Amino acid sequence: MPRIDNDIKLDFKDVLLRPKRSTLKSRSQVNLRRTITFRNSKQSYDGVPVIAANMDTTGTFEMAKAFQPHGMFVTIHKHYTAEEWVDFAANNPECMDHVAISSGTSDTDFTKISEAIEKVPLIKYICLDVANGYSEYFVDYLKKVRKSFPNHTIFAGNVVTGEMVEELLLSGADVIKVGIGPGSVCTTRKKTGVGYPQVSAVIECADAAHGLGGHIISDGGCTCPGDVSKAFGAGADFVMIGGLFAGHDQSGGELIERDGKKMKLFYGMSSTTAMEKHAGGVAEYRASEGKTVEIPYKGDVNGTIKDILGGIRSTCTYVGASKLKELSRRTTFIRVTQQLNNMFGQ
Ligand code: 5GP
Repeated sequence: MPRIDNDIKLDFKDVLLRPKRSTLKSRSQVNLRRTITFRNSKQSYDGVPVIAANMDTTGTFEMAKAFQPHGMFVTIHKHYTAEEWVDFAANNPECMDHVAISSGTSDTDFTKISEAIEKVPLIKYICLDVANGYSEYFVDYLKKVRKSFPNHTIFAGNVVTGEMVEELLLSGADVIKVGIGPGSVCTTRKKTGVGYPQVSAVIECADAAHGLGGHIISDGGCTCPGDVSKAFGAGADFVMIGGLFAGHDQSGGELIERDGKKMKLFYGMSSTTAMEKHAGGVAEYRASEGKTVEIPYKGDVNGTIKDILGGIRSTCTYVGASKLKELSRRTTFIRVTQQLNNMFGQ
């Protein structure tokens, strides 16, 4: 007989943050930087913990250059060569504290990251990314990477439950990527029926990780700056974003014209588009296909960055958090049935 978990699980759309009395005068008083010491690598981090996803279209070197002045982070997609890494690091050493190299679990991936890391000692972060972080094979791969790179900070995922967060931390990961199915171009829930509402996943996984001195990334599902604040409010140490950072000058993906309007292509890492592009290289990457969409061209990513960081700062002033770190402590979620007034459209 199947078990039914009757606890209500919440998504971004199900909650709002309750405002609280505050002594903050303006959002400019809010400090969005965090310093973190990682559980296993023992390395320390200082920055604004918003991450561009390691997708072809958002995890680019161009994005890393645009993010650097803001102290934000980019998980670089796995299709750059070691030579391209060498070139990037030589020309942009200031970016190297805020980028990760990405890897799946294939032997080719391992050889590729090993070669790049050997050539570029400035690479400090490794992001191990699979659709299903629950497989034993993934845990073994993580242990192998930890053994080979004892001082690198390792992000690993994706999972959505506390027991697997613990297992990955105990197997050598520093930061666990949380999210199955919330992504804007993800079809996992449709194809497999598997998933977990993101706010509840973050609350539960953050609790498990923090109990062991680890950290988490809320990955996927942010449709607006308010969702990013909710992810931090739920206890995420980092928030990873794809769709909101797509469609810019710094994003990959072709610029096309439709009915006189400039559009950019955005696609999931297991979409047909990605698979065709990488000729079989990502076929095993995601359990189910992703979508390919055309989105309006949004110009320079700096506009979007200001919008998102301004939004989080403003959230902090509403709940009286002078630092991002305090946001989750100052968070009370209220369950809602409606978020927005759509009288004049979305
Ligand atoms: P977004 O911010 O666009 O809502 O979500 C970004 C996240 O979606 C990525 O960081 C990654 O975890 C996930 N993702 C990217 N491509 C795919 C895909 O093709 N399939 C699935 N299931 N998830 C994807």
